[in-house]
Amino acid sequence: AAVRAASTWANVPQGITEAFKADSFAQKINLGVGAYRDDQGKPYVLPSVRKAEDQVIASRLNKEYAGITGVPEFTKAAAVLAYGKDSSALNRLAITQSISGTGALRIGGAFLARFFPGAKTIYIPEPSWANHAAVFKDSGLEVRKYAYYNKQTIGLDFDGLLADIKAAPAGSAFLFHACAHNPTGVDPTPAQWKEIEAAVKAQGHYSFFDMAYQGFASGDIHKDAFALRHFVAQGHNVCLAQSFAKNMGLYGERIGAFSVVCADAAERARVDSQIKILVRPMYSNPPIHGARIAAEILNTPALYDQWLVEVKDMADRIITMRALLKDNLEKLGSKHDWSHITSQIGMFAYTGLTPEQMDVLAKEHSVYATRDGRISVAGITSANVGRLAEAIFKVKG
Ligand code: PLP
Repeated sequence: AAVRAASTWANVPQGITEAFKADSFAQKINLGVGAYRDDQGKPYVLPSVRKAEDQVIASRLNKEYAGITGVPEFTKAAAVLAYGKDSSALNRLAITQSISGTGALRIGGAFLARFFPGAKTIYIPEPSWANHAAVFKDSGLEVRKYAYYNKQTIGLDFDGLLADIKAAPAGSAFLFHACAHNPTGVDPTPAQWKEIEAAVKAQGHYSFFDMAYQGFASGDIHKDAFALRHFVAQGHNVCLAQSFAKNMGLYGERIGAFSVVCADAAERARVDSQIKILVRPMYSNPPIHGARIAAEILNTPALYDQWLVEVKDMADRIITMRALLKDNLEKLGSKHDWSHITSQIGMFAYTGLTPEQMDVLAKEHSVYATRDGRISVAGITSANVGRLAEAIFKVKG
């Protein structure tokens, strides 16, 4: 498969929210949200976050500026969380705090636009998170797409993906979703990641990981970091965008990190210096409150253990809702194979419904989601899953 030129991926959550708000039906369902909801459909603040925040406030810290690269207690701990405490990357890692995952991607895009040798191009999956193309284009990169999703199987287009990695000019930059691919919920298996790594290495490509859902996907922070850690272990000096929006529920605090694995300490010093030169004219230095909360959790053993349980609870609720939706559809007598609903992972599920079927779901059943057939599993609850399955059954059979 030839590597396709960039195309825009239709995704209009703004419109969904408006249509949802305008609908007066009491049992309307919003599956367009990009944030976790509890089983009552309410926004959720993790108890570990509440406790960490209380501790931060009780310590009466001052409000002085952080350095350009943020709160060191936070970035150090974020690196350990992502790469693992025994990773060879830690002592040659340039890392900066960022305005959540988006800001990390933006710094990474600007860094590649300035320093990546050869063509200023980045390959992203088709489809990808709607903002990837915009972030990288605005960073000064040309965005191209590689095959990822197979509409027929509602699964991974593994052959197409490998073919596109091989077809791209040697030494290209590739963006990978570390886990819980958004919007499809389709991830490569560990065995497939190993083949992807080998193909990337054979072509001398550079890997940029976007890890917006560590722990939130499987409930296990190590399992979700498998791809990233495997690439590093195989000798790839990758770069990484991390977000704490989903796994700590710190959405509006805008807390994340961008890091570059360097060849050695000397290169680390040079990269660190260049990151500072990039960040300084963008926003001078990042906000401190979210970083302090995340650092408090990551660096306090009791809070850290509590947080691990709470992330797993969120992941488990989503996994349970997937199973319930599939069960309900099967009980209604649907003859379709719905196994993709439970094999997909993370906040989003690709239903395989067409844009026209999604329109009918909204108009006739007050079920709102993007027209690409993506539903936010976080919007499903024990109370609405039955009605949701009935609506999908009526529309698709
Ligand atoms: N990357 C992916 C794949 C995402 O799905 C998201 C959020 O939905 C982000 C990055 C960035 O989110 P934030 O900037 O809120 O951390």
